[in-house]
Amino acid sequence: MVEVTYNFSAGPGLLPASVRARLAQAIAAEASLAEMSHRSLAFAEILEATKAGIRRHLGVDDAYEVLFLMGGARLQFDWIARNFLKHKAHYVVSGLWSAMAADRARAFGHEVSTQALGELEAPKEADYAFICSNETVDGIKFGAWPESDVPLVIDASSDIFSAPVRMDSVGLLFAGAQKNLGIAGVTVVVIRKDFLAKAQVSESDYLTSYKAHAKAGNLLTTPPVVAIAAVKYILDWIEGEGGVATLAQRNRVKADLIYRTIDESVGFYRCDVPVMQRSVTNVVFDLPDETALSAFLVGAHKRGLINLKGHRTKGGIRASLYNAMPLAGAQKLAQYMKEFQKEYCHGS
Ligand code: PMP
Repeated sequence: MVEVTYNFSAGPGLLPASVRARLAQAIAAEASLAEMSHRSLAFAEILEATKAGIRRHLGVDDAYEVLFLMGGARLQFDWIARNFLKHKAHYVVSGLWSAMAADRARAFGHEVSTQALGELEAPKEADYAFICSNETVDGIKFGAWPESDVPLVIDASSDIFSAPVRMDSVGLLFAGAQKNLGIAGVTVVVIRKDFLAKAQVSESDYLTSYKAHAKAGNLLTTPPVVAIAAVKYILDWIEGEGGVATLAQRNRVKADLIYRTIDESVGFYRCDVPVMQRSVTNVVFDLPDETALSAFLVGAHKRGLINLKGHRTKGGIRASLYNAMPLAGAQKLAQYMKEFQKEYCHGS
């Protein structure tokens, strides 16, 4: 009998058990969170506390606006170009998501320069430089955020709050909540106010205007109340766990365990990502062939290790080790990988 299930989904991802319980309780309550008016005092308090928690865990003050938008992280690819691309933008293309973001920017008819993963080479006259801090599909991390005169725009959808970051040069950061930050339905956008002032979409064109949403205090349209509260519960949980730096240490241990198991398998498990670029939150690897892959997934499922199948464009295995994944989950996966290899090699 399976006692514990570990969910390795890339997103929507797992929630800490205490957050799941708190959310369930808040929704099931007589005065349900799901029925709360977005104009109520109770929601105003949730909104303010959530903004404050995001700023605190990012290490920034109220020089940064915090917005809670809908339409998915992908919609931000469009909004960013629409609002900030005036002459030229620069994109670091490190995987599927940043490539898609650069494509969207090109649709606006201005100059878009690109580079591969590496030291930032943004032309100094660029309106912004776009970086995806973690490529969820490819299992590739950008690494430390650089100091830059060109404002950085960061897609941190799959690694926000997985480790402390350097915000000095960040003009805008966004993250879909459904991985490290809560449940699907909200995208958190953090914008430095002097960068926001440069947004070219006017407030009257309010559907795609950061300025309009900021001015309306997030209440321009009815915000996703439950999803925002879930972000608050996650922030409270991070605080209780000892903060982002503590989580970063834990994440390192979990990821190292899986990468070590891959590297020690003498080629049975293959990870093509160079060591320095290996993601801490999404470990991507492959097995010798499709038969082995299918058998691995079936065996994993039986042991309660679920949602390990790689992205549909890539195949293979993807083990997402977000903040909420306990060390025991990574240990159980590593143990299973070793056992599977032994059995498979012995049997064939
Ligand atoms: N950026 C990154 C890094 C992602 O991982 C994802 C979703 N997996 C997206 C953008 C797109 O998010 P959404 O599906 O919310 O549009």
